[in-house]
Amino acid sequence: MEMWIKEAQIEDAAMIYKVKETLVTKQTEYQDLAIVESNRFGRMLLLDGIVQTTVADEYVYHEMITHIPLFTHPNPEKVLVVGGGDGGAIREVLKHPSVKKAVLCEIDKCVVEECMKYLPEISCELENPRCEVFIGDGIKYVHEHKDEFDVIIVDSTDPFGAAEGLFGGSFYKEISECLTKDGIFVAQTETPFYLPEVVKKVFSDAREVFPVTKLFMAAIPTYPGGYWSFTIGSKMYDPEEADLPDELGFDTRYYTKKLHKACFALPKYVEELVK
Ligand code: SAM
Repeated sequence: MEMWIKEAQIEDAAMIYKVKETLVTKQTEYQDLAIVESNRFGRMLLLDGIVQTTVADEYVYHEMITHIPLFTHPNPEKVLVVGGGDGGAIREVLKHPSVKKAVLCEIDKCVVEECMKYLPEISCELENPRCEVFIGDGIKYVHEHKDEFDVIIVDSTDPFGAAEGLFGGSFYKEISECLTKDGIFVAQTETPFYLPEVVKKVFSDAREVFPVTKLFMAAIPTYPGGYWSFTIGSKMYDPEEADLPDELGFDTRYYTKKLHKACFALPKYVEELVK
């Protein structure tokens, strides 16, 4: 029998995937969690029915949300990832030898546990001695840590439920206080095609807080609309002017030096959202 799952993140449009096997489903304290083995994308993590990451295309998202800020900062030593319980962002952050400590602050311990069990290629660095996994609310964590991180990465679910407070001006102000004086923040900020008003609002909120605020894009096959936005807010360094090393020093599959500059070139319909 053929099995398909339908992801309807948008009210009137959906993505469907052929599935071989369901590996785990559970209701956690915060959300419905499922990990399935799909035909096309391999194992995928779904939270509340929304695809979070897949083995086949996770590298696009995880490389772009990490290497853009980390190669912009001249010496990132301490990095915070808010959300990101699958571990993909941490895996990429720890590729940077300057990073002495990376903290993962994930609200839902089940996400970390199940990803460590079923998605080892993504979660593989969570037990690295340079990584600390903290289970708790990112909003509280950021509020309680001041002037501490060189880079903060908000790798969250969509702006509903526990993640709602991770989008918006008051959180960005707290982020700014949690960053060191030349710190950089980046967040996944949704699909400009389906949710233009979210992209516009988040960007304008970030711009109120950070002297340098830019939007960049990446093509992610399993995210609605395919073309995904990230917002970067920086106290000093402009990511488009970053002094990139001759050699990256590690392998990537999506991020390149050329792309670091090119991803800030926006299509007109997106440019208009961030004017
Ligand atoms: N790459 C993904 C995407 O854009 O679809 C995000 C993946 S990651 C799994 C998102 C994580 O954010 C989830 O595991 C969720 O539990 C976590 N999260 C949501 N709200 C949070 C909060 N307030 N504090 C910390 N983590 C939170």
